[in-house]
Amino acid sequence: MYDLIVIGAGAVGLSVGRYFQVERGFRCLVVEKEARIGQGISSRNSEVIHAGLYYPSNSLKALLCVEGKKLLYHYLEKNGLPFRRCGKYIVATPGQEQELQDLFEQGRANGVDDLELVTGDTLHAEYAQLAPCPALSSPSTGILSADAWMRHLAGEFQAGGGDLALQSTFCAMTPGETGYDLTMSDAAGETITIHTDRVINATGLDALNVASLAGFPYVAQEYSVRHCKGSYFKVPGARGLFHNLIYPLPTPNSLGIHIRLDLLNEVLLGPDAEYLPGYEVDYTVDPALESEFRRQVCRFWPGVKDYPLEPDWAGIRPHLFIRDEFHHDFYIKAEDEAGCPGWVNLLGIDSPGLTAAMAMGPYIDRLWD
Ligand SMILES: Cc1cc2nc3c(=O)[nH]c(=O)nc-3n(C[C@H](O)[C@H](O)[C@H](O)COP(=O)(O)OP(=O)(O)OC[C@H]3O[C@@H](n4cnc5c(N)ncnc54)[C@H](O)[C@@H]3O)c2cc1C
Repeated sequence: MYDLIVIGAGAVGLSVGRYFQVERGFRCLVVEKEARIGQGISSRNSEVIHAGLYYPSNSLKALLCVEGKKLLYHYLEKNGLPFRRCGKYIVATPGQEQELQDLFEQGRANGVDDLELVTGDTLHAEYAQLAPCPALSSPSTGILSADAWMRHLAGEFQAGGGDLALQSTFCAMTPGETGYDLTMSDAAGETITIHTDRVINATGLDALNVASLAGFPYVAQEYSVRHCKGSYFKVPGARGLFHNLIYPLPTPNSLGIHIRLDLLNEVLLGPDAEYLPGYEVDYTVDPALESEFRRQVCRFWPGVKDYPLEPDWAGIRPHLFIRDEFHHDFYIKAEDEAGCPGWVNLLGIDSPGLTAAMAMGPYIDRLWD
């Protein structure tokens, strides 16, 4: 018997589990189908702490990214976890100057108050290898080790009395007089049913399927998810060449192929955006994408042509569609209207889900108030 069961031990499930167990004193269980935590979307992304400038004012992405960024930096600092506030430039190629200005204003409207527009000459003075493009500087953008962060969240959750059940796949829900009976199966196919007052479905790519298994009727009728794959190429010879992240302006379904750094200053290019058929999960990187990656990045880093690229890894974004229309925001729904008080579905948690994760527990808490 638990106060709360969180389904899914990615960045979101671990963050909300830690919040309710450690900060709110709930008795919590986190269940995860894999043998280890954080093996889903949370280990296949750019590991960027986003500032919160891209998203429409008052959207959940804007609110939770800006709040989540503060909570995340505080948590990483307090616990001595690896991260770097490296900052980023978003560059505008000729003809994109107005878009850059609009992004600057959107960021300020979202409460990102440290943004600065810089001239092409200023950018070029700092980075002679980049095209002299006007750019938006975002000093509060950073990078982290998602793996170290998630391991710490899980450790703190368990040290605070929370239970973590690995190789436990949620497969069915029966409403009780109050609360819910959840059935999980283990690696051998044995099932166990556990009672809980509340449930948070934080299952990433599987969240719609889990909501459907739990019997939420709107899901099958109106909702669908498309798997939007993003591949990365490594630029082995460019290690140490950049100390900031360098982004182009965003496209309608991604932030654009950017220069991504890890904490060792290795340079990666990515991710692109390619819809996979059905619910396919395919993490292979097609070497034939190399010329398109070069073409995209050449617009702001002409020197990329001198470096060999190596196919690296890929991640998959869960893009939520409601009545066939792309839902650009996170979808976090307390299911009271569906007759399920205390049940929350989190759907379409794509970027900036890593940055926003630590603000999701407090947000759900406010929904339950
Ligand atoms: C290419 C790419 C780049 C990105 N870059 C960034 C970035 O730089 N910054 C940023 O903020 N965000 C970024 N994101 C988004 C971010 O990675 C995700 O929003 C975030 O990781 C989602 O976390 P999650 O916990 O919801 O999902 P996941 O990490 O996938 O966790 C869900 C968990 O649920 C488990 N599960 C599934 N079904 C069941 C079941 N039936 N029973 C039990 N467990 C189950 C899974 O095994 C998994 O461990 C990026 C995403 C992609 C794809």
